[in-house]
Parts: sequence; C-alpha cells; structure tokens
Amino acid sequence: MKKGNLFVVSGPSGAGKGTICAAFAQRRPEVFLSVSATTREPREGEVEGVHYYFLGEEEFKEKITQGDFLEHAVYCGNYYGTPRGKVMEVIESGRDVILEIESDGAMQVRSRYPEGIFIFVCPPSLQTLEARLRGRGTESEEVIAQRLEKAVQELGRAHKYNYLLLNDDVEAAVRRLEAIVDAERCYMPRNIGFINDFIKNKEK
Ligand code: 5GP
Repeated sequence: MKKGNLFVVSGPSGAGKGTICAAFAQRRPEVFLSVSATTREPREGEVEGVHYYFLGEEEFKEKITQGDFLEHAVYCGNYYGTPRGKVMEVIESGRDVILEIESDGAMQVRSRYPEGIFIFVCPPSLQTLEARLRGRGTESEEVIAQRLEKAVQELGRAHKYNYLLLNDDVEAAVRRLEAIVDAERCYMPRNIGFINDFIKNKEK
C-alpha cells in the first residue's frame, strides 16, 4: 500500500495560509486537513474537533510528555500541536495530509519527518503583509511591528522549504497548491513501488 504524502503549509502570520488551506480542503476533500490541538479559547463559531481540539494547559502538557504530538509550539502565549497518531494513521492508509501550522512547528516536522513536503506561503511584499495585518483590525501597532519583524526572520529560513507559494491572489494561490499536490503524487521517487509491482506482474 502506497503511503499518503504529508504537506506542511507554513509562513508568516497574515500571509493567508489559513484561508488558502480552507479553500483547498473544500475543493479537494480527498486530502485530510489535520485538526490541531490548542490551549487558546475557541472563537465564535469554532467547533470542537472541527477547527481545533480545545484543551486545558495541563492536559496539553501531559500530551507533550506522552509524545502525542508530531510537533508543538507556543504562539502568542498559547500552545498548538499536531496530533501524531491521527496524522500517521491517515498517511499509512494512503491518504494525503495537510498541516497548516506556524513555522517553528514546521521546522520540527522537517527534522522528524523529512519526507514531508514543505510549502512556504508568502505575501507579495512586506507592504502587503502590513496592510493585511492592519486590515484585520485586531492587532495593536506594537503587535503589528512585532509580527512584521518576525515575518522578516521567517523569510530568512524560507530556503528550508521545498516550495514558495506566493499569495498575491487567493484563487491563484489555491490553484498553485493543487498543482504542487498533484505534481508530488507523480514524483517518481514516490512511485517506485508502483513501477516494481508493474514489472512483477509482467513476469507472472
Ligand atoms: P489561530 O489561533 O489564529 O487559529 O492560529 C495561530 C497560529 O497557529 C497560525 O499561524 C496557525 O497556522 C498556527 N497553528 C495552528 N495549529 C497549529 C499546530 O498544530 N502547530 C503549530 N505549530 N502551529 C499551529
């Protein structure tokens, strides 16, 4: 049985990775969008087990100790983590998985699961990113300045990713993500099992 691929979508806050992944998941339901655990409070409309698994801090830390997370990170004072068991089970079943996570977590996955495919979502410019962060209207000037500074730091490690996903336009970005997913399924080193089975059947 051919394993599924693990796609990790990351990049600076405000780059649009959440919007792109949500649109992608609607269009490609055969790909499993992993549901993370977090200690942050649910926002209005967020559903347990659909958007996140909402955990208390003690429970989250207990799961870290038990090795239940493929990766975890603290972001804006809250814990976030990817449930290892579910993700591995889906991959083993042959289905592709997408993680939409911040970049410290993406780098942990890269060292623990190097066969993953790492995609860096980037806005077309720092000015666009600044405009998007301001447009949300939820962040103070100080927080916006911190996020922009962090975005510049994150671009410094963009070379550790396999793909650049420019988010100049959401629709175009989703189409590019579909193209990456499709191309990776065709990538020969991931299909050697198929070729070997093909040859074996000919010999029978
Ligand atoms: P939010 O609280 O706005 O839903 O998410 C905040 C940040 O946490 C986003 O950048 C999101 O990509 C990231 N995030 C969500 N789930 C995970 C996770 O499981 N692990 C890590 N490392 N980051 C996550």
